[in-house]
Amino acid sequence: MTEPIRADGGRRVRLVWVYPDLLSTYGDRGNLLVLARRASLREIPVETVEVNADQPVPEDGDIYLLGGGEDLPQILAAKRLRTDGGLARAAERGAVVFAVCAGYQLLGHEFGGVDGERLAGLSILDVTSGRGDRRGVGEIVADVDPTLGVPRLTGFENHQGITKIGQGARPLARVTLGVGNGDGTEGAFAGKVLGTYLHGPALARNPGLADLLLSWAVGPLKPLPTASEEWARQLRAERLAATTTTG
Ligand code: GLN
Repeated sequence: MTEPIRADGGRRVRLVWVYPDLLSTYGDRGNLLVLARRASLREIPVETVEVNADQPVPEDGDIYLLGGGEDLPQILAAKRLRTDGGLARAAERGAVVFAVCAGYQLLGHEFGGVDGERLAGLSILDVTSGRGDRRGVGEIVADVDPTLGVPRLTGFENHQGITKIGQGARPLARVTLGVGNGDGTEGAFAGKVLGTYLHGPALARNPGLADLLLSWAVGPLKPLPTASEEWARQLRAERLAATTTTG
């Protein structure tokens, strides 16, 4: 990393939203807003950068975000990111990468195309995806790997893909409701790279996950006052209650 990130107006934390023109479904952009907000509530200066598919991905970001996408935009995004190489180089140097659904699949070695054909991903995360027999659609609830210290995940999923985790990554969570990776696990992480099938947006519903990503970029965070957490607390309570009454 370059100079340290300081909370006194020094170097800003750079949040890079990768390909909003191709990858952003079900309000995934909210992940960027939540990260920026939770950083600024702690007086951590942030800068957000949006990179469309016809622009090079800057290599000096601190946290990279990728959203979900339909099959064709996902295929195009994977091709462009492979050619560009900026995201892979940033991940290699230790930047935080957070990817949702299509973004998660394309971080892996391969993913399923429109007719299930095997397409090359970026191999940033040791996972391999293909097409499952049925779409996973609906609410998802999953319990996070205890080493990460993040409370139970709540989200919305809509994907055909299923994902196998290799030796070089670990499941992010165990599914208690929904499909996730398709084998009882949900998402994956390795180092500072984390992928999930959760929309919602994921970081609005799971501020603990947002803080984990921020802490990977800047170090330990101070807790926020209870009043600033009230909306997130209510949203989580509502979504988790909905799954127990309808699920
Ligand atoms: N196209 C991918 C799939 O169906 C990802 C979908 C998404 O990002 N919501 O598996």
